[in-house]
Amino acid sequence: MKILLLGKNGQVGWELQRSLAPLGELIALDRQTVDGLCGDLSDIDALRSTIRKVKPDVIVNAAAYTAVDKAEAEIDLADLVNGQASRVMAEEAASLDAWLIHYSTDYVFSGRGATPWREADLVAPVNRYGASKLAGEQAIIASGCKHLIFRTSWVYAARGNNFAKTMLRLAREHEALNVIADQIGAPTGAELIADVTALALQKVRLNSELTGIYHLAASGEVSWHGYADYVINFARSQGELLAVKVVNPIDTTDYPTPARRPLNSRLNTQKLRDNFSLYLPDWQSGITRMLREVLNK
Ligand code: NDP
Repeated sequence: MKILLLGKNGQVGWELQRSLAPLGELIALDRQTVDGLCGDLSDIDALRSTIRKVKPDVIVNAAAYTAVDKAEAEIDLADLVNGQASRVMAEEAASLDAWLIHYSTDYVFSGRGATPWREADLVAPVNRYGASKLAGEQAIIASGCKHLIFRTSWVYAARGNNFAKTMLRLAREHEALNVIADQIGAPTGAELIADVTALALQKVRLNSELTGIYHLAASGEVSWHGYADYVINFARSQGELLAVKVVNPIDTTDYPTPARRPLNSRLNTQKLRDNFSLYLPDWQSGITRMLREVLNK
């Protein structure tokens, strides 16, 4: 099996380099051109010709325009990378009869209510980034290619920048932090996403009826405030010297950002667990592991 991985250096892409390696010949690209192969999703023609040269059995797209606030101003670039490039990958996958594995987000939903979102729930993106990711999903489905679209949330990894690492840095520098307490979701490790991808890929190769959208997140739920508390308490329990004395809960309305954020990022993962016989660990276990790694404990 020949696998073309795009976005190899992102949080998820980095972990996919590990988890996909035993499954076949892996050609992993970032946005640079290497040996005539280009993984820059903003260069649609080069992307198309790269896929035609490689002729993969599976395309795994971990690249995306992920700058949520900047996307409000850079709408065209977000649409190009998240929408149009996904369409090109899907068209090429369809003509090669290859699988396309792609990642999306809970930001395709309105963020209202408190019920975990199911795959078939009505979409209504809260911001431009969400709209661009939804455009990608819809293009993939419309192409008729065999696909797995994993919608996930609150991704973190030991490598790269994310909320947990930002909280650790701020907790070293400040005595008081203000953290949003009315947005709820599940921090989900890039390691878990990559491992589930590899397991699911093996299964869909034997049963193409499993094609479709799946929600993929760690179990349980927490607010950003609860998440920050967990990170800080764990770091302190491991002997980290932190300046922080108080973490104040604040509302989303107290922290205006260019892009709106959903209050409800909960994802119902029943379909994924049932169709692939998978168990999704609670968010605390992955966060603890990541913290041990970054704190070297
Ligand atoms: P990262 O931001 O860590 O990685 C994205 C990667 O895409 C980076 O390596 C980036 O490269 C690359 N990229 C950006 N623009 C281009 C381009 N034009 N051409 C080629 N590569 C490009 O994201 P994650 O690993 O966290 O996200 C993986 C997937 O999960 C994405 O589809 C994302 O939308 C989705 N997701 C992420 C969430 C999160 O909290 N992070 C939440 C929900 C879904 P460079 O570093 O050079 O810019």
